[in-house]
Amino acid sequence: MTAIDWKRAGKYFLLLDMLKGFQLGMKYFLAPKATVNYPHEKGPLSPRFRGEHALRRYPNGEERCIACKLCEAICPAQAIVIDAEPRADGSRRTTRYDIDMTKCIYCGFCQEACPVDAIVEGPNFEFTAENREQLFYNKEKLLENGERWEAEIARSIELDAPYR
Ligand code: SF4
Ligand code: SF4
Repeated sequence: MTAIDWKRAGKYFLLLDMLKGFQLGMKYFLAPKATVNYPHEKGPLSPRFRGEHALRRYPNGEERCIACKLCEAICPAQAIVIDAEPRADGSRRTTRYDIDMTKCIYCGFCQEACPVDAIVEGPNFEFTAENREQLFYNKEKLLENGERWEAEIARSIELDAPYR
């Protein structure tokens, strides 16, 4: 005949394991949450975050890009295609600025190469598409992104400036 383990039996009878589990659950219920309720809440982004591309303008509305093509030359994915022509006033501007976002690897080289902070990778990471065509960005789309995100982009560049 086996002896009764009274200690173990008492533990079962008093539901100690369940109470311990409940106590642990309550501890984490009241603790600050480690997760965020995306998309209603979003985590902080680094000023160096490399998201969706944008072409910026100067405050007077003039395009920053001077069509030097450095971004096109440095892009390891060959995702950028630029055509350029001189304007009547002798300045040089792009007539075409395309980025194939299906090729882009978000390395940030285009942004680093740009001498006038025209092409940048902004803070937007919510740009899913339903087909490939929507990921072929043209100049109009990129300038539109620049206008939409200018405040955030300018703030990120300012925050990052002391470390460059
Ligand atoms: S982030 Fe890199 S891969 Fe993408 S367009 Fe710029 S240089 Fe090319
Ligand atoms: S975006 Fe910058 S690097 Fe690219 S062509 Fe324009 S000025 Fe040159």
